[in-house]
Amino acid sequence: MTSVINLKPASPKKIDDIAFIDLVAQQKRIRPAIEKRLQAVLDHGRYIAGPEIDELEDLLSERTGAPTVISCASGTAALIIPLLARGVGRGDAVFLPAFTYNATANAVLLCGATPVFVDIDPNTFNIDPVDLDHRIAAVRAEGNLRPRAIIPVDLFGSPADYPAIHAIAKRDDLFILADGAQSFGGELSNTQVGALAPATGTSFFPGKALGAYGDAGAIFSMNSHDRERWASIRWHGTDDARKESVRVGFNGRMDSFQAGVLLEKLAIFDDELATRRQIAGVYNERLKSVTKPQSHIKGASSGYGYYSLRTTNRDQAVKKLKNMGVPTAIYYATPLHLMPAFADYAPVNGLPQTELVATEIFSLPMHPYLSDAQIDHICDSVLEICG
Ligand SMILES: *Cc1c(COP(=O)(O)O)cnc(C)c1O
Repeated sequence: MTSVINLKPASPKKIDDIAFIDLVAQQKRIRPAIEKRLQAVLDHGRYIAGPEIDELEDLLSERTGAPTVISCASGTAALIIPLLARGVGRGDAVFLPAFTYNATANAVLLCGATPVFVDIDPNTFNIDPVDLDHRIAAVRAEGNLRPRAIIPVDLFGSPADYPAIHAIAKRDDLFILADGAQSFGGELSNTQVGALAPATGTSFFPGKALGAYGDAGAIFSMNSHDRERWASIRWHGTDDARKESVRVGFNGRMDSFQAGVLLEKLAIFDDELATRRQIAGVYNERLKSVTKPQSHIKGASSGYGYYSLRTTNRDQAVKKLKNMGVPTAIYYATPLHLMPAFADYAPVNGLPQTELVATEIFSLPMHPYLSDAQIDHICDSVLEICG
């Protein structure tokens, strides 16, 4: 993912300088404020658990409506901690899409549980509730594993079908842990990502829509009683006094420098999000006649961590786009069940929609510092190549 992030200074007006994600222009905008934050950490010296951590957790709670927010070391930690806290482990089946980043499945396996891959809806690219239903029934019928949890992924920022997933989880008494690593800022029926599931993990990897200057993540809960256990697990499983281990945990903390950076990025996030959504609106309108842009479930607004679309001549198209100065990325060319690390968990008959979408998907530049001329050039290029 990092390789496509522009680290060179870019002149945002120039067409030949289009960045896939532009962290340089963003830094220019808020550099003095970030320097002040970093300076403050250098001055108080509380590199771990500094005041920035509490300030960030409070603001994230306020913004999302999730009563409990625990900052943590990464998006991966944000998935592992709630699973450990629930005791999800050996003998448990955890249902997740295979069309996601490897971290979603790694988190399940690191907890000792078994991933059960579910197919996607080919329009939203998110977990298909109908296939989810079938696979839960199949696991029950087989009788080897206990269905325990569902990890819907809000791919590219678009909220998964939570109404349908909630109904299934309620019926079967399953825990929902949302992987919102790409969807901070997304919403469904006026409820923010973070408050759409009992637990949600997000990532603040630099290339995500809200990114730190290093690794970081956060976990959101709709229950205040998760706080103590999650905070303990991220601090080596210790008690309140941080002396005795009362459960198994690990070093899952976010550091104060990252929280300082995130506070300044959060301050401009809504402004950036509005621009992302405007750009996505232009892409949708101009490109829908020649490609299939990601669609969203009713009432959903994407956070547009990425803007992704399908085209049948994908590999050729991305090559040509590159030659026209339009950088693209492919998330994901290989679904997880076809990767060596997860091949043992590949469904016998594969995942037809996932495998089809993987051959057609690509992502266009999506960041709030694209100029109108650049957006125009991107659309013209896609229309010419895919039309
Ligand atoms: C980025 C990402 C993660 C992992 O986040 P890290 O901060 O890199 O650990 C997990 N799931 C998805 C869907 C992601 O995109």
